[in-house]
Amino acid sequence: MTSFLISHPSFLAHDTGDYHPERPDRLRAVLAALDDAAIAHLVSVVAPAATLEQLTRVHPQEYVEAILGVRPPSGELVQIDADTIMSADSAEAVRHAAGAVVAGVDAVMRDAAQTVFAAVRPPGHHALPSIPGGFCLFNNVAVGALHAQAAYGLERVAIVDFDVHHGQGTQAIVEPDPRLFYASSHQSPLYPGTGSARERGVAGNVVNVPLAPGSGSAEFRAAWGDRILPALDLFAPELLIVSAGFDAHRRDPLAQLNVETADFAWLTEELLTIADRHAEGRIVSALEGGYDLDALAESVAAHVRALMRRS
Ligand SMILES: [Zn+2]
Repeated sequence: MTSFLISHPSFLAHDTGDYHPERPDRLRAVLAALDDAAIAHLVSVVAPAATLEQLTRVHPQEYVEAILGVRPPSGELVQIDADTIMSADSAEAVRHAAGAVVAGVDAVMRDAAQTVFAAVRPPGHHALPSIPGGFCLFNNVAVGALHAQAAYGLERVAIVDFDVHHGQGTQAIVEPDPRLFYASSHQSPLYPGTGSARERGVAGNVVNVPLAPGSGSAEFRAAWGDRILPALDLFAPELLIVSAGFDAHRRDPLAQLNVETADFAWLTEELLTIADRHAEGRIVSALEGGYDLDALAESVAAHVRALMRRS
């Protein structure tokens, strides 16, 4: 089976200013790491733009139109909130970032690919239906999950999130719908301050495992192995979507966890085992955070190599 790498030139053109951690060089590092002989048979696909219909399943139409209407002149930046910035090309980037996850869902549901990695910017998991934040404008993975429900009638779609920050935007979209599942390991305390283990959704369909600063491989693997993976297995997803942030890495400057590159490969293999059992192996993974360029490149390569194990 094939694995797709879905990206778009606008992701490199989304400019956040000279000193912003969520910068185009992140994606350059990711694409360079994936442009490697060992993973040369990854099939590159250009992301389409998400349609208004796809975006408005998650976000109110007024919000979508307001975000897509932010088109400053070339070279100027618009501060959306304290951390979230848009430039001339950002409206194109946000439409294609959500579109990349939608295209990934289509690819795995139509058996064009078994697994997908969407190399996108900006990330999405902090975007609430009507509130941007944490570098995020549209919730890319949620747009993909709701597309899977609407276009393919899936009854059980899971989103798992190993970014070091809690994906409070994704959780808010998932928690009222028992046909969706959201699980996250994340550092606590840390932005955005949500993700207590007591937040369980309407049907136990939310699982949060906060990790104390300084936690490393043992705590990360226990969070997934003892708590999240058994709950995910019980949910029996027909499709697995991954918010793949690599900022839990020990070298990341934005947080204080000590996860190793090998832990991301381990977790990817565990997720494949569950996807094989319930979802015909279908995984759509989308890039979220990761701010040390070397750690990010190395970790994405390990993640994608694992995703490609049978191709
Ligand atoms: Zn993050």
